[in-house]
Amino acid sequence: MKKISIYIHIPFCRHKCIYCDFYSIITDESINEYIAALCQEIEYYSVQNNYEVETIYFGGGTPSLLSANQIENILNHIRKNFYVQPNAETTIETNPGTVDLQKLIDFRQIEINRISIGVQTFDENELKFLTRIHDKNSAVETVLNAEKAGFANINLDLIFNLPGQTKNIWKQNLEKAIELPITHISTYSLILERGTILNKMVLDGKVVLQDDDYDADLYEYTIDFLTKKGFIQYEVSNFCKSGFECLHNLNYWQHKNYLGFGTSSHSFLDNKRWWNYSSLKMYIENIKRKKTAVRSFEILNINELEQEYIMLAMRSKGINIKEFINKFGEDFFIRNKNHLDEIVSKGYLIQTDEFFRLTQKGFLVCDEILINLK
Ligand code: SF4
Repeated sequence: MKKISIYIHIPFCRHKCIYCDFYSIITDESINEYIAALCQEIEYYSVQNNYEVETIYFGGGTPSLLSANQIENILNHIRKNFYVQPNAETTIETNPGTVDLQKLIDFRQIEINRISIGVQTFDENELKFLTRIHDKNSAVETVLNAEKAGFANINLDLIFNLPGQTKNIWKQNLEKAIELPITHISTYSLILERGTILNKMVLDGKVVLQDDDYDADLYEYTIDFLTKKGFIQYEVSNFCKSGFECLHNLNYWQHKNYLGFGTSSHSFLDNKRWWNYSSLKMYIENIKRKKTAVRSFEILNINELEQEYIMLAMRSKGINIKEFINKFGEDFFIRNKNHLDEIVSKGYLIQTDEFFRLTQKGFLVCDEILINLK
């Protein structure tokens, strides 16, 4: 059986946040129709092959807008159509302000065993700026309720380098986060995406972003702070307590196979990648007509596969030398010998018998290191 991860995109949101470029829509009228389409799509792919599902991830959008019954309906459909490993990591993204304790208990009871909470910041002014629907208290309450509901694996998302964010505000965010019963933090610098309201505000001169050097300072502070508090950095933007890496994301970063279902989702199998329509209407229409909603696809050649593998591996747990040579041969190491030796000697990279892995110092200049690899 081929091992895979499954991603389910739930595109519904209460409101569009100013910085967001994920595909999401502000309606709940079509939720049941969408779930029916998802089930058809899941069924279509299950008959193609024998798959063993290692992880399931509900992302969005705001999956926690769905009821536990609706999520369970999708999960049951996956279990009916695929072999799912016992205790497979099953994550739901959740926004504070969309769940109470009972709903979290219900999620836990349908065997969701990991929760990722979109806090972004605990600072009230920053929450207002980002136009999030929650406040600091509901963010804290959601994390505490997740623990009460029985979640032992809790992630929290935070964004740094917001306009006007002082080092002190960011420090307070990190301090608040680690006071809570979490096992994982994903922390990203604010990215200005084209087509967002924030982008227009910046172009109109209504918002001024902070510069790259300040961004690098905050990132360096974050790595230092979290590692001193016992979190392990296992990817450029991801930190966890020992044993709590997100297995679903690790599968992406280790270039493993995954199937994505729903609007805008991507899939990757062997050397083929395809992606669905980013439109609820187009998705549902296509599924009704032909049970798939693929907008386009690409076949990666061996060089493209090698480059992706290197980029993903260097940003996370490193290049597994034996696995890499089995897949792509030794040319990469020969081509880059001088550069690799140099960055090892400068302390950016560690070489063991098994891995080439970036150090904490290496993560700070990861993009520069990647650009210089041939
Ligand atoms: S809740 Fe998340 S997905 Fe929805 S608009 Fe805000 S950032 Fe985007």
